Amino acid sequence: MSRTDSDSEQDEYDWVETFCDQRGNEFFCLIDEEYVNSNFNLTGLRQQVRYYKTALKLIRNTNKLDLEKLSEEKVLEIEEDTEYLYGLIHSRYIVTDEGMRRMAKKYRAGIFGKCPNVFCNRQPCLPIGLYDEPKRDTLKIYCPKCRDLYLPKLRYRKIDGAYFGTTFPHLLLNTRKKLRPMKPPQEYKPEIIDPKINKTKMENEIKKEEEEELVNNQKKEENEEELNTEEK
Ligand SMILES: [Zn+2]
Repeated sequence: MSRTDSDSEQDEYDWVETFCDQRGNEFFCLIDEEYVNSNFNLTGLRQQVRYYKTALKLIRNTNKLDLEKLSEEKVLEIEEDTEYLYGLIHSRYIVTDEGMRRMAKKYRAGIFGKCPNVFCNRQPCLPIGLYDEPKRDTLKIYCPKCRDLYLPKLRYRKIDGAYFGTTFPHLLLNTRKKLRPMKPPQEYKPEIIDPKINKTKMENEIKKEEEEELVNNQKKEENEEELNTEEK
Protein backbone atom coordinates (compact mmCIF):
# COMPACT_ATOMS: atom_id res chain seq x y z
CA MET A 1 0.00 0.00 0.00
CA SER A 2 1.40 3.41 -0.91
CA ARG A 3 1.67 6.26 1.57
CA THR A 4 -1.06 8.29 -0.15
CA ASP A 5 -3.44 5.34 0.11
CA SER A 6 -3.00 4.98 3.84
CA ASP A 7 -3.31 8.76 4.24
CA SER A 8 -6.60 8.94 2.45
CA GLU A 9 -7.87 6.01 4.51
CA GLN A 10 -6.94 7.82 7.71
CA ASP A 11 -8.59 11.02 6.50
CA GLU A 12 -11.88 9.18 6.25
CA TYR A 13 -11.85 8.54 9.98
CA ASP A 14 -13.98 11.09 11.76
CA TRP A 15 -14.27 10.71 15.54
CA VAL A 16 -17.62 12.56 15.76
CA GLU A 17 -19.26 10.52 13.01
CA THR A 18 -17.96 7.26 14.42
CA PHE A 19 -19.20 8.20 17.90
CA CYS A 20 -22.67 9.24 16.72
CA ASP A 21 -23.04 6.10 14.58
CA GLN A 22 -22.39 3.79 17.52
CA ARG A 23 -25.35 1.79 18.85
CA GLY A 24 -26.51 3.47 22.04
CA ASN A 25 -25.43 6.95 20.90
CA GLU A 26 -28.44 7.63 18.68
CA PHE A 27 -29.63 10.44 20.98
CA PHE A 28 -26.55 12.56 20.14
CA CYS A 29 -26.67 14.75 17.06
CA LEU A 30 -23.68 15.59 14.89
CA ILE A 31 -22.27 18.90 16.04
CA ASP A 32 -21.23 20.85 12.97
CA GLU A 33 -17.55 21.68 12.53
CA GLU A 34 -18.09 25.40 12.47
CA TYR A 35 -19.51 25.32 15.99
CA VAL A 36 -16.70 23.16 17.37
CA ASN A 37 -14.03 25.28 15.69
CA SER A 38 -15.07 28.43 17.49
CA ASN A 39 -13.22 28.80 20.81
CA PHE A 40 -15.94 31.14 22.00
CA ASN A 41 -18.43 28.25 22.09
CA LEU A 42 -16.09 26.22 24.27
CA THR A 43 -15.52 28.80 27.01
CA GLY A 44 -14.96 27.21 30.41
CA LEU A 45 -14.62 23.62 29.21
CA ARG A 46 -10.82 23.38 29.28
CA GLN A 47 -10.72 23.13 33.08
CA GLN A 48 -13.24 20.30 33.14
CA VAL A 49 -11.39 17.82 30.92
CA ARG A 50 -8.04 16.10 31.67
CA TYR A 51 -6.91 15.52 28.08
CA TYR A 52 -8.71 18.59 26.77
CA LYS A 53 -6.28 19.40 23.93
CA THR A 54 -6.13 15.86 22.54
CA ALA A 55 -9.88 15.37 22.94
CA LEU A 56 -10.63 18.62 21.16
CA LYS A 57 -8.28 17.75 18.31
CA LEU A 58 -10.13 14.47 17.86
CA ILE A 59 -13.48 16.22 17.84
CA ARG A 60 -12.18 18.89 15.44
CA ASN A 61 -10.79 16.12 13.29
CA THR A 62 -7.34 17.72 13.23
CA ASN A 63 -5.49 14.96 15.04
CA LYS A 64 -5.25 11.24 14.49
CA LEU A 65 -4.30 9.35 17.61
CA ASP A 66 -1.15 7.33 17.12
CA LEU A 67 -2.41 4.35 19.06
CA GLU A 68 0.85 2.45 18.81
CA LYS A 69 2.70 5.10 20.80
CA LEU A 70 0.20 5.16 23.67
CA SER A 71 -0.56 2.62 26.37
CA GLU A 72 -3.93 0.89 26.24
CA GLU A 73 -4.89 2.59 29.48
CA LYS A 74 -4.13 6.04 28.11
CA VAL A 75 -6.04 5.38 24.91
CA LEU A 76 -9.09 4.46 27.01
CA GLU A 77 -8.70 7.57 29.16
CA ILE A 78 -8.47 9.80 26.09
CA GLU A 79 -11.49 8.12 24.55
CA GLU A 80 -13.44 8.65 27.78
CA ASP A 81 -12.41 12.32 27.91
CA THR A 82 -13.31 12.88 24.27
CA GLU A 83 -16.81 11.49 24.86
CA TYR A 84 -17.12 13.66 27.96
CA LEU A 85 -16.03 16.80 26.11
CA TYR A 86 -18.36 15.98 23.23
CA GLY A 87 -21.24 15.64 25.70
CA LEU A 88 -20.46 19.01 27.28
CA ILE A 89 -20.32 20.74 23.89
CA HIS A 90 -23.45 18.86 22.84
CA SER A 91 -25.57 20.33 25.67
CA ARG A 92 -24.64 23.83 24.43
CA TYR A 93 -25.04 23.01 20.76
CA ILE A 94 -28.57 21.56 20.95
CA VAL A 95 -30.00 24.86 22.19
CA THR A 96 -28.61 26.75 19.16
CA ASP A 97 -30.87 27.12 16.14
CA GLU A 98 -29.00 24.57 14.02
CA GLY A 99 -28.72 22.15 16.95
CA MET A 100 -32.46 22.37 17.59
CA ARG A 101 -33.15 21.74 13.91
CA ARG A 102 -31.07 18.56 14.02
CA MET A 103 -32.69 17.37 17.26
CA ALA A 104 -36.20 18.17 15.98
CA LYS A 105 -35.57 15.83 13.07
CA LYS A 106 -34.71 13.01 15.47
CA TYR A 107 -37.76 13.82 17.60
CA ARG A 108 -40.11 13.63 14.63
CA ALA A 109 -38.61 10.26 13.74
CA GLY A 110 -39.22 9.00 17.29
CA ILE A 111 -35.50 8.33 17.92
CA PHE A 112 -35.81 9.38 21.58
CA GLY A 113 -38.55 6.84 22.26
CA LYS A 114 -42.31 6.97 22.66
CA CYS A 115 -44.30 7.75 25.81
CA PRO A 116 -45.29 4.57 27.69
CA ASN A 117 -48.54 6.20 28.91
CA VAL A 118 -51.42 4.40 27.10
CA PHE A 119 -53.41 7.62 26.69
CA CYS A 120 -50.49 9.43 24.99
CA ASN A 121 -50.86 7.18 21.92
CA ARG A 122 -47.16 6.63 21.37
CA GLN A 123 -46.27 10.33 21.58
CA PRO A 124 -42.55 10.89 20.72
CA CYS A 125 -40.46 12.01 23.70
CA LEU A 126 -37.46 14.34 24.10
CA PRO A 127 -34.22 13.77 26.04
CA ILE A 128 -33.73 15.75 29.25
CA GLY A 129 -31.39 15.94 32.23
CA LEU A 130 -32.47 16.67 35.78
CA TYR A 131 -29.22 18.59 36.36
CA ASP A 132 -26.99 20.74 34.20
CA GLU A 133 -23.87 19.69 36.12
CA PRO A 134 -22.31 16.55 34.65
CA LYS A 135 -21.83 13.26 36.56
CA ARG A 136 -24.87 13.80 38.77
CA ASP A 137 -27.66 11.85 37.11
CA THR A 138 -28.45 9.94 33.97
CA LEU A 139 -30.65 10.91 31.05
CA LYS A 140 -34.47 10.84 31.23
CA ILE A 141 -37.07 11.25 28.52
CA TYR A 142 -39.83 13.88 28.64
CA CYS A 143 -43.27 13.44 27.12
CA PRO A 144 -44.68 16.78 25.91
CA LYS A 145 -48.21 15.36 25.97
CA CYS A 146 -48.56 14.17 29.58
CA ARG A 147 -45.59 16.34 30.66
CA ASP A 148 -44.04 13.54 32.63
CA LEU A 149 -40.55 12.01 32.77
CA TYR A 150 -39.65 8.41 32.01
CA LEU A 151 -36.58 6.21 31.84
CA PRO A 152 -35.24 5.69 28.33
CA LYS A 153 -34.59 2.25 26.83
CA LEU A 154 -31.97 0.21 28.68
CA ARG A 155 -29.10 1.00 26.31
CA TYR A 156 -29.46 4.75 26.92
CA ARG A 157 -29.63 4.60 30.71
CA LYS A 158 -25.95 5.24 31.33
CA ILE A 159 -25.82 8.50 29.35
CA ASP A 160 -25.23 11.60 31.48
CA GLY A 161 -28.33 13.79 31.63
CA ALA A 162 -26.15 16.92 31.53
CA TYR A 163 -25.25 16.17 27.87
CA PHE A 164 -28.85 17.20 27.08
CA GLY A 165 -29.49 19.63 29.90
CA THR A 166 -32.54 20.70 31.84
CA THR A 167 -34.01 23.22 29.40
CA PHE A 168 -33.65 21.68 25.95
CA PRO A 169 -37.18 20.18 25.47
CA HIS A 170 -38.89 23.34 26.68
CA LEU A 171 -36.79 25.61 24.46
CA LEU A 172 -37.44 23.39 21.47
CA LEU A 173 -41.21 23.31 22.01
CA ASN A 174 -41.36 27.03 22.73
CA THR A 175 -39.55 28.00 19.56
CA ARG A 176 -41.24 25.39 17.34
CA LYS A 177 -44.93 25.45 18.16
CA LYS A 178 -45.72 22.92 15.42
CA LEU A 179 -43.88 20.27 17.40
CA ARG A 180 -46.20 20.61 20.39
CA PRO A 181 -48.86 17.92 20.77
CA MET A 182 -52.31 19.20 19.81
CA LYS A 183 -54.31 17.88 22.74
CA PRO A 184 -53.48 16.77 26.28
CA PRO A 185 -53.99 13.06 26.82
CA GLN A 186 -57.34 11.65 27.87
CA GLU A 187 -57.37 11.19 31.62
CA TYR A 188 -57.67 7.77 33.15
CA LYS A 189 -60.63 7.55 35.54
CA PRO A 190 -60.66 4.44 37.69
CA GLU A 191 -64.02 2.73 38.09
CA ILE A 192 -64.93 3.24 41.73
CA ILE A 193 -66.94 0.50 43.39
CA ASP A 194 -69.07 1.83 46.23
CA PRO A 195 -69.42 -1.02 48.74
CA LYS A 196 -72.81 0.32 49.93
CA ILE A 197 -74.30 0.42 46.44
CA ASN A 198 -72.79 -2.95 45.76
CA LYS A 199 -74.35 -4.46 48.87
CA THR A 200 -77.86 -3.24 48.03
CA LYS A 201 -77.41 -4.43 44.46
CA MET A 202 -76.44 -7.88 45.65
CA GLU A 203 -79.27 -8.03 48.18
CA ASN A 204 -81.75 -7.06 45.48
CA GLU A 205 -80.46 -9.75 43.18
CA ILE A 206 -80.74 -12.40 45.88
CA LYS A 207 -84.30 -11.24 46.73
CA LYS A 208 -85.25 -11.37 43.05
CA GLU A 209 -83.87 -14.89 42.72
CA GLU A 210 -85.73 -16.03 45.83
CA GLU A 211 -89.01 -14.54 44.57
CA GLU A 212 -88.57 -16.22 41.21
CA GLU A 213 -87.91 -19.53 42.91
CA LEU A 214 -91.00 -19.09 45.06
CA VAL A 215 -93.17 -18.39 42.01
CA ASN A 216 -91.70 -21.39 40.20
CA ASN A 217 -92.36 -23.65 43.18
CA GLN A 218 -95.95 -22.43 43.43
CA LYS A 219 -96.50 -23.14 39.76
CA LYS A 220 -95.04 -26.58 40.17
CA GLU A 221 -97.33 -27.31 43.09
CA GLU A 222 -100.37 -26.10 41.18
CA ASN A 223 -99.45 -28.28 38.25
CA GLU A 224 -99.06 -31.26 40.49
CA GLU A 225 -102.42 -30.56 42.11
CA GLU A 226 -104.05 -30.31 38.73
CA LEU A 227 -102.56 -33.62 37.73
CA ASN A 228 -103.75 -35.19 40.95
CA THR A 229 -107.38 -34.02 40.47
CA GLU A 230 -107.34 -35.24 36.90
CA GLU A 231 -106.18 -38.66 38.00
CA LYS A 232 -109.01 -38.89 40.52
ZN1 LIG B 1 -47.04 10.94 27.75
